[in-house]
Amino acid sequence: MRTSYSALETYKTCPLKYKYQEIDKIRGPKNITAVFGTMVHAALKYMFERNPLYPTLDEVLNFYTEHFHEKSEKIEWAHPDKKEAEEKMYFEEGIKLLTNFYKKNQPWTFNVVELEGRFSLELLDELTGKVHTLAGIIDRLDKDPESDVYEIIDYKTGKRMPSEAELADNLQLGVYHLALTSRWPSVEPERFATSLYFLKHNEKVSVNPTREALARTRALVLKTIREIEGNIEKDEFPPMPGPLCGWCAYQRLCPMWAHEYKEEAAKTANDAEVAQAIQDFFELKKQGDEVKDALESARATILSYMESEKVARVFGDRGYITKNVQERVNYNLEKLEEVLKDAGVWEKILEPEAKKLEELLPSLTKDVAEAVQKQTSKKQVIVLKPTKKKGMDDEEE
Ligand code: SF4
Repeated sequence: MRTSYSALETYKTCPLKYKYQEIDKIRGPKNITAVFGTMVHAALKYMFERNPLYPTLDEVLNFYTEHFHEKSEKIEWAHPDKKEAEEKMYFEEGIKLLTNFYKKNQPWTFNVVELEGRFSLELLDELTGKVHTLAGIIDRLDKDPESDVYEIIDYKTGKRMPSEAELADNLQLGVYHLALTSRWPSVEPERFATSLYFLKHNEKVSVNPTREALARTRALVLKTIREIEGNIEKDEFPPMPGPLCGWCAYQRLCPMWAHEYKEEAAKTANDAEVAQAIQDFFELKKQGDEVKDALESARATILSYMESEKVARVFGDRGYITKNVQERVNYNLEKLEEVLKDAGVWEKILEPEAKKLEELLPSLTKDVAEAVQKQTSKKQVIVLKPTKKKGMDDEEE
């Protein structure tokens, strides 16, 4: 399979989006966020290109202005009424980012080795015997003449700035590190630094990747490729809706959003009926939550009274309420799944349930049974059981 970091990332975010983009090769309409990102990257490349001198800040901003407007002309606006305001906001944001970046990073102070360098790396999966190609583009590669360290830099236009600890296992930087260590096998993996430059904050976060991280990246890439190949065989690419749906170019094709985009002309009586049911659902849910809160508050008052009066049963006009102490089993689901999978009995229960686990325990080896017990704990819960007085109405409480 030929793939890239961004394709693997897309798959992890949403398998259906991966299918639209990588298998069906459907080109989504360009939106303003994509144009903004592309143009900021292009301007940063231009900034570090010496021809014969490095461009001044004004020249970089002129380059951005000219290309931004040229590209934004081609956008298919989902909400044409917002075109002017959004275009202005993104354009000005780009000017601000580039100005701040230039002031902090004068191009002549860096030893740039490569800009938007392409790579294509062959990866042999020892498990399947297949060879895959991992390709991509690295925004910038510098070399520090003093420390002799190569620095892989990727620019980010997003807001979120992760911690250094998170960056240690960043797949994108890991893939780039993998690509360059395989391009230059004589350069030790420790002689690379990997950095993400967050343009909105004008800050760079860097890590020194290790050999172990390199091995982890390789294993993760191959595992993800195997998963994708399995899904291709089964033709199974489920949608995974999340916060990034708002930026997804395939929203109109996606079954998770099809109802939202249903044309007025295609609507039938069923649509009107379901619209009312949705309305009712929200209202009833709200009422249910209010009842739950009121019930919780009454429960707390009754329990507190029982404790202070040292009684286990209280009486009212409609009946009495008894305090019962029950034992409930809790599981560390994540760990338990690992233990049972290793023991090859996970399929027998799929989800830990007390009854199924109790039935399963006698058939497990002593070690596995002990490991299961370690991930299981019991806790006591207090249940208030209401009992109606004879002759009172039958409604449930
Ligand atoms: S809209 Fe959301 S769920 Fe649908 S394909 Fe795009 S990312 Fe996936």
